[in-house]
Order: sequence, then structure tokens, then C-alpha cells
Amino acid sequence: MTNWPVHAAWNGPIVMIGFGSIGRGTLPLILRHIAGDPKRITVIDPDASRSQLAEKQGASFIKEAITQKNFRQVLKPLLTAGPGPAFIVNLSVDVDSLAIMKLARETGALYIDTVIEPWPGFYYNTKLSQSDRTNYMLREGLLALKRELGPGPTAVSCCGANPGMVSWFVKKALMDIAADTNARVAEPKTQAGWAKLMKRLGVKGIHIAERDTQRSKSPKPFGTFVNTWSVEGFISEGLQPAELGWGTHEKKLPPRGKRHKTGCGAAIYIESPGADTRVRTWTPTEGPHFGFLVTHNEAISIADYFTLREGRKAIYRPTCHYAYHPCNDAVLSWHEMLGAGGKRQKQWNVLDETEIADGRDELGVLLYGHRKNAYWFGSQLSIEEARKLAPYQSATGLQVTSAVLTGMVWAIENPNAGIVETDEMDYRRCLEIQTPYLGPVRGVYTDWTPLESVNELFAPDLDRRDPWQFQNILVR
Ligand code: NAD
Repeated sequence: MTNWPVHAAWNGPIVMIGFGSIGRGTLPLILRHIAGDPKRITVIDPDASRSQLAEKQGASFIKEAITQKNFRQVLKPLLTAGPGPAFIVNLSVDVDSLAIMKLARETGALYIDTVIEPWPGFYYNTKLSQSDRTNYMLREGLLALKRELGPGPTAVSCCGANPGMVSWFVKKALMDIAADTNARVAEPKTQAGWAKLMKRLGVKGIHIAERDTQRSKSPKPFGTFVNTWSVEGFISEGLQPAELGWGTHEKKLPPRGKRHKTGCGAAIYIESPGADTRVRTWTPTEGPHFGFLVTHNEAISIADYFTLREGRKAIYRPTCHYAYHPCNDAVLSWHEMLGAGGKRQKQWNVLDETEIADGRDELGVLLYGHRKNAYWFGSQLSIEEARKLAPYQSATGLQVTSAVLTGMVWAIENPNAGIVETDEMDYRRCLEIQTPYLGPVRGVYTDWTPLESVNELFAPDLDRRDPWQFQNILVR
């Protein structure tokens, strides 16, 4: 495709915080699809090793770490330089999303990020309880800020591939299941309407089922953590407790599973690191496989969005969680790191598009428990296609960066939406913008249930009457 559409225009400053694997891939998409002067784009990152990549595209580069102390001083002049309001694109690690959102509101800027990131000192703080180290708590902070700030300039929270794009997939998958089971329904217009539809279709739960088969051209060296996106980001979330949106059909909490005492009540956590907690899942190409139950914002936001209440009581909620098989080298990297008592490897490598030999990132949503058993809907983007579609990114990267672009366009089209989660955005418009970057986008029904993946030699404590109990999904 050479005639890429221009989706929007922006004449104010664009301030990108963080120029790692996602920032580098996002910049060319912004320049391709959002009309504006590249000179108004500023990229900020303490690591200047790739500054030329930003500069050769016309953006300025500032070598600086944004901290709790300096963020106002560094960012405010950039945000108020005019002529129009600014747009903050936060693609860093260690820069607190909520603090930057507040500054965005103060200066009338639009804002987007791909995770709710805290300042350093949260992820590995042994003084915090396990409950306080969860994404549930980070999201409760976001919800409190949303209530506090109320209506105003748009700030899109958690708009990457997942969290982000997968929330749009869930709605698309629901409409597909409705059509394929002859449930004559109009497309819901409200949150409660969507929750009613999911309940009516009998969906018990959702896996964010991802199988990354991208392989490095050279074998993983001993003592190096290899991944297809941020190693730092993956280690921090992999060492948080496993978490999942907790459905109303579930009969019993998993071992070491705990409920929170405060907040929306949509999720539970398990006192075990997500990267060391396995679940049985399924994607179309790989079929049945193990995924890691790594905590992610979408597991909680989707479960919360599709909760149906009578008064204060939740009468329906799907179970929802990530079931992530990262690239094989990342699985080996975790094995090595956790086997060494969690001591991190000295070397980290985020594979870029030149280091990857082949493979795809099969990332979708598996909606289960309904009349047609289970339905996976998602993207099967390969590294070869990603290379053709856009520069500086792997298949994993492009699924994320095209979601960031989509969220930016949506924010420009809806500039006064306040703080929004991707579940609240118009999924049709978002998928219209993003789909050209996703390779084959397919919906596939399957007869698979987690009971099929159980090794019968070691199969105590299963629920054979309801294959979709979480107790059958969790590997013990
Ligand atoms: P990366 O590790 O490749 O890059 C992070 C960048 O942030 C680095 O260049 C680093 O120097 C910079 N940085 C570190 N401290 C900073 C500071 N104080 N101020 C400014 N910059 C700082 O990570 P990535 O793969 O580009 O991921 C970026 C973010 O996106 C991470 O938070 C990650 O968790 C998130 N992410 C989200 C999704 C999703 O689908 N939602 C997917 C991938 C990554």
C-alpha cells in the first residue's frame, strides 16, 4: 500500500516520552497518518543511541529521563509552545501515567499511553502487599483520577495491542457470535447493553490468547533475556502477582487466589508471579498450548466493562485473563531467570526486525462457553508482512504501534472525552483505522476445551461437568 490515508491533522506540539521498540515504530505511523509539521514533534528518552532515527524524520530529540522531580519543568514548556494544544504520547517505562495525565489536563493537552505505568519503586517494592502490587490497584488509581478530573480533554489509557486493541476485538467477536447463532440483536450502544449481550450469548470467559512464534536468526545466548518487546516491561509485569477478571460462573477460587477488599471487585489475584503461572489455552495455528497468566490491565477492564449489576450485586461477569506464550526465547529467558531465584540476566535484547528470522504474532481473544463452544478472533501478523507495512518494528511491535496511532486519531476526533479506557471507544472506527496493519484478521471456531489439554495421568481436582471452570484452565 503506497497511498496511505491521512486520518487526522494536528497543529500543536506532539511530545513522545520514550523511544524504545514501541516509540520507534510509532513515530513513522504518526508522520504517515496525522498531518502536521514534523518539527513540532519532540522525542524524550535518556538513551540517545537512536536519536538520529528521530532527527532524520524531522523530530527533535531531548536526552533526558523524565522523573517525579523534573517532569513539570521539562514537559510544561514543550506542552505550551503552541500554536494549538499539545498531544502527549507516553511510551516509556518508569514514567507515572497518572502524573502525566494530570499535567496534560492542566495544560489542555491530549494524552495516550499503552499501560498504567507507575514511577520507579512500585513493581519490586517488598514493603507493598501483594494486593497493592497488582494492576487492579493501578487501575483503581486511574478510575479515581477519572472521577476526580471529570469531563475534559481526552486521555486514552492503555491503548496498545493488549491492553488496547483486544478490547475492540471482544466487541467484534461478540457481534460475530450473535450473527452465527442467529441471535437477532441490534448492536449495543451502552456498557450495560454490551454486558447484557455477552450474558445472553452465554459467554463464560475470555482468554487474551497470544502465541508469538517469532524466532531470532541466532540462538539465544546464555545469560541474555530476549524478547520481541520491552524486556524491562515484561520482567516488571511478569513478577507482579498473576491476575484475572473473575467470572460469576466460577465455583472456586484457585489455590493462593485472593479477592481485593476495595474497588470495583472485578478481579482476583494469585500469590504467584504471572510469568511462573501457566494456563491451558488455544490459538488457531498452534492449537492447544500453555500460556503464562501474566497480569494485564485488559483482564480487569474487560471483566469490569462486561459486568452486569442488579443494585450493587454483580449478576454476570466473564472471567478474563491473558494467556501469553511469548517468543520461545522469552520462555527460555524466564526459565533461566526464575531458576536463578529471579536474578536478572546481565544482558537484555529486544529483537528488532533485522534480527528475526521468521514467525508471527498470533494475538486474539478466545470467547468461550457459548453455544458454539469457543471463538478466537484476532491478528496473525507475520514478521515478513510487518516489514513490508512499516519500518522499525517486529510483528509484535506493529500490533502495538498501530493501536497507538488508532487511539491518537480517535482522540483527535473525540477531543473532549476525558479519561477513557479502550473498552469505551468506538470499536468499529478503531478497527477501521488499525486493520490494514494487522495482517490476516480471522475469526475461528474451535471444539477445544481445557479438559482436552489435561494429562490424564495427573488429573486430580478437575470439574468435568463444566469444562470452562478456571480450575481446569490453571495448570497445577
Ligand atoms: P523499551 O524497553 O524498548 O523502551 C522503553 C524506553 O523508555 C527506553 O528507550 C528507555 O530508555 C525509555 N525510558 C526509560 N526511563 C525513562 C524515563 N524516565 N523517561 C523517558 N524515557 C524513559 O520498551 P517498549 O517495548 O518500547 O515499550 C514501551 C512501553 O509500552 C512499556 O511501558 C511497555 O510495557 C508498553 N507496551 C505496551 C504494549 C501493549 O500492547 N499495551 C505492548 C508493548 C509494550
